[in-house]
Amino acid sequence: MKILALYADVAGRDVIEHLRQLASLLKGMRVIHVNSTRVGGGVAEILEKLVPLMQELEIDTKWELIRGDEEFLECTKGLHNALQGNPKDIPKSLLNVYEKTNAQNAEQLRHELEEADIAFIHDPQPAPLLKFCPNRKGKWIWRCHIDISRPYHPVWRYFRNFVLGYDASIFSLADFAQPLPHPLYVIPPSIDPLSEKNVSLDGGEIESVYEEFGINLELPIILQVSRFDRFKDPLGVIRAHKLAKKFISSLQLVLAGGGATDDPEGEVVLKEVQEAAADDPDIHVLFLPPEADRTINALQRGADIVLQKSIKEGFGLTVTEAMWKGKPVIGGDVGGIRLQVINHHTGVRVSTPEGAALRIRYLLSHQDKLQAMGQKAREFVRENFLITRLLRDHLALMVALIYDVEDRIELD
Ligand code: UDP
Repeated sequence: MKILALYADVAGRDVIEHLRQLASLLKGMRVIHVNSTRVGGGVAEILEKLVPLMQELEIDTKWELIRGDEEFLECTKGLHNALQGNPKDIPKSLLNVYEKTNAQNAEQLRHELEEADIAFIHDPQPAPLLKFCPNRKGKWIWRCHIDISRPYHPVWRYFRNFVLGYDASIFSLADFAQPLPHPLYVIPPSIDPLSEKNVSLDGGEIESVYEEFGINLELPIILQVSRFDRFKDPLGVIRAHKLAKKFISSLQLVLAGGGATDDPEGEVVLKEVQEAAADDPDIHVLFLPPEADRTINALQRGADIVLQKSIKEGFGLTVTEAMWKGKPVIGGDVGGIRLQVINHHTGVRVSTPEGAALRIRYLLSHQDKLQAMGQKAREFVRENFLITRLLRDHLALMVALIYDVEDRIELD
């Protein structure tokens, strides 16, 4: 099946044409991606799409895994957490397992790795592979998907030795990076317009989801989809709804999220939210199971406005998802929301519940503005935050490295 053609239908023919042009410079190149899992987690989700797309563009692309036992996983979990700031040392015995496991995996993968024109090594788990491939021919790129801007320094000092020798690194946001002695690239996250979470739905499906939850699609709806987490400020959203309701009495609020069961803090936040919402029948707190992608899709499509009133945020994929569905987003003025919500164009940024309430009221009473903002939001995502752009950035980076482009290509 030709998947590029499917993407042309949603992302635009021009976008696909551009990809083909870039890829023509890379035809037949041997590329290898290495990460630690084929299922689960954001990295696997990206590679599941990226690898077949690169193959269809006639780049000889492979996806390999680094495999390890429980101690290896314990170590890499510790590394992951410490690099993201958790101040916890990792026992020397576990670090030995980490290095030994990489050495063993390198035995298996050495031929492919050393022959590859480009190797993308994802996250900390397989980073030491480079050290065990002394005769590599191609360029090696460390692709960091996590925020290492404030690492626990003893662990970073140990770990950085494994990435110093790479030819380049990629981070998701400039704010997530650490200085390294090679070019650093920024490739922001993206969404897949063909996934269950984002594929277009017919009106009937949207209606039946709303009906199932007892929410009236005929009346105005504001929605926030988020884990029940203080940084997502669900209580601030409830306050914004309360303030806006003074002017729009029929205003309904949907707070949809999940994931609280294995997170004690999440359960506490969910309880607080339920209590704060208890006396208002227009607030619907929906606790969703992990596999609720189509439900989330329908909720986003049925809402008039989507909120993401975070007070701290990495990138904010929920913002991208809503914008792709043509919804104006009222977002917190933090993190990656700033990259997506261009104030008063693709949405609005706020810092307080009062600010959010004011914008809700304004947009709901200016439907023309609301629609126009939603359309701009969709176009902005089409240009900047679809998987096709992520692929384009990878191709551009590969061209730059293979052809030794002197000037750095600035991605986004
Ligand atoms: N999400 C989900 N179920 C939920 C809440 C969120 O599937 O109950 C999804 C949401 O649609 C988005 C992702 O999880 O794709 C959350 O990513 P985001 O960057 O917005 O926030 P994070 O949770 O990573 O802080």
